[in-house]
Amino acid sequence: MATIYLDNQATTALAPEVFDAMLPWLKDNFGNPHSAHVMGRQAASAVEVAREQLAALLPANGRVIFTGSATEAINLAFGAVRKISGEGRDQIAVIDTEHAAVRDTALWYGTQGFDTKLLPVDHQGLVKMEDMEACFSSRSALVGAMLVNNEIGVIQPVEQITEMAHKYGALMLCDAVQGFGRIDIPQEADLIALSGHKIYGPKGIGALWVRDGVDLPPLIHGGGQEQGVRSGTLSPALCVGLGVAAKICAERRERDAAHIAGLAAKARSLFSDWTMNGAVDQRYPGNLNIRRDGLDVARLMSEVRGVAFSAGSACASGSGRPSHVLAALGLEPAQIKSSIRLGFGRYNEIEEVEQAAHLINQAAESQLS
Ligand code: PLP
Repeated sequence: MATIYLDNQATTALAPEVFDAMLPWLKDNFGNPHSAHVMGRQAASAVEVAREQLAALLPANGRVIFTGSATEAINLAFGAVRKISGEGRDQIAVIDTEHAAVRDTALWYGTQGFDTKLLPVDHQGLVKMEDMEACFSSRSALVGAMLVNNEIGVIQPVEQITEMAHKYGALMLCDAVQGFGRIDIPQEADLIALSGHKIYGPKGIGALWVRDGVDLPPLIHGGGQEQGVRSGTLSPALCVGLGVAAKICAERRERDAAHIAGLAAKARSLFSDWTMNGAVDQRYPGNLNIRRDGLDVARLMSEVRGVAFSAGSACASGSGRPSHVLAALGLEPAQIKSSIRLGFGRYNEIEEVEQAAHLINQAAESQLS
């Protein structure tokens, strides 16, 4: 039996149209996009088309910088704080449930002379707006808030967080990795990170959108490619893949959303004996993080090998660390260990959800009986 893939927050399948669009740039059109001859210029123009395709889904007044991943985009974005620290701004605040790419980078800056604060969340995983203002001051440099949480799917009130950040003169970095191409992007954010492999595009490419006027120091020194901040030869195939993936997401947004809502509704009814982790309504429906008390998820996963899904207890950054997200919600260690994450995507069929639910519920019942 083929594996039923229900781990679309970890990564997504490459869309067939994306594969087709990338192929010529992997095969015959191998020119260096930074070369002056005709093959180079063709590659450069393909890269620029891809940049435009991304820009079409992002706010108008900024620029797109290609990176090797969203993690790299986020590291590049954080450099902005070094540019403004001279203005007496040395405070960084990020939501406690951010992906490690943001959280750990913020904590690292905390070891480099910055004052890093983690913004608490309530038991639903939503940032506590009423407590937030206490974390801001005239020394605030940057606030990091994700759009959709990769572990529990909750959608943070990023527009309100951005407003608060701007009230105190801080920059707002939005990790939009799990929301880009699916839900609205916060138009007032200053820095927006995204990733190819979460939107049915290739792995090994991401991008950072930077609002006009935001100054970044180089992250990678060298030949000066990517506007002087991220040197290294770009891969036209990866850029084209990301651009086409974004374009398809935009074209199919309503259709994908309706399809995923249908899968999620089916899953919620089939897993009605389970408890949802995180907000029930303010969430992206393609993510279902659920628990059943007493369940040994490691055992469950080894028994249900035909379904690719994640243990909720494992930090979804792939680091193998325990989930800081479920802990931030106030769940007990035993509850965290009995949690699983299912992620639905464009290419899942309703029958796959039914089959997976049957296998998972059967294995869970036999464990708990
Ligand atoms: N941010 C979020 C919310 C993610 O889900 C991920 C990937 O899991 C990342 C950042 C990192 O993305 P990348 O794999 O492109 O570095």
